Amino acid sequence: MLQNRCDVHTHTLYSRHAYSTLRENVLAAREAGLELLGVTDHFSDMLFPRTDLEHADLRDYQHFINMGVWPRSWEGVRLLHGAEADVRTLDGRLFGQDVEVTTDITGRPLREACSLYDRVAAGCDYVIASVHYKEFAAGAPVAQTTEMYLRALSQPKVLVLGHTGRAGVPFDVREVVGEAARQGKLIEINEHSLETRGPGGRTWASCRAIAETCAELGCQVVVNTDAHVCCAVGRTPHALGMLEEIGFPQELIATRSAEAFLAAMSAAGLRTPGV
Ligand SMILES: [Zn+2]
Ligand SMILES: [Zn+2]
Repeated sequence: MLQNRCDVHTHTLYSRHAYSTLRENVLAAREAGLELLGVTDHFSDMLFPRTDLEHADLRDYQHFINMGVWPRSWEGVRLLHGAEADVRTLDGRLFGQDVEVTTDITGRPLREACSLYDRVAAGCDYVIASVHYKEFAAGAPVAQTTEMYLRALSQPKVLVLGHTGRAGVPFDVREVVGEAARQGKLIEINEHSLETRGPGGRTWASCRAIAETCAELGCQVVVNTDAHVCCAVGRTPHALGMLEEIGFPQELIATRSAEAFLAAMSAAGLRTPGV
């Protein structure tokens, strides 16, 4: 049986279409036997109507700038600060990178303007880059969508490419997985993708092909729930079942233990928090 002891893609009430508090997720993580929980709410223009690709108000995103108040270990579970940032352009720009923020959360001018992405990423231990708006990539050649993922992967703080098997943007899996392996970055195997679409479907086949390429090229994966409600946290039967089916090696699962995930963060050049 493959082991998985971390869940590093989960959402809280902040994401608006998710329903649990941080504490409910932590307790659910403990109950599921997890050693480490990563909280990665959406960092996306899907959340606030007054936001678009050029305009945003830091007040809408203050969730991300005060995560330092969370205990690093809560109910025996290590807690990491993250965000799931939207990949928003074909050149791999992430949401908020082209948006300048000039005021703080009280509306006072910042001493130095910076990008919304940089301000948010500064409070994160890591970022997951995911595509949710596939329209911008419609009809783009595979060479271009591949470049999109490669550039997203090389962004500051990006550690994981999220649910690439269900994003609906075809890309050169071998090239992206190979580059992730070289940079020590991680490809997500997403329970939610497999659970909702089921075996035999197109999503299952593409997730499986991605996992097989990771095994072949020695790229580490993270097995995550993408939980939007606490009872889903830490439960990945479909993802682990699929990985077992293809004989996926345990040592390439970076979420097999807290120690392994923190080591993967370090190897990718990210700072790991002390407890
Ligand atoms: Zn969501
Ligand atoms: Zn997502």
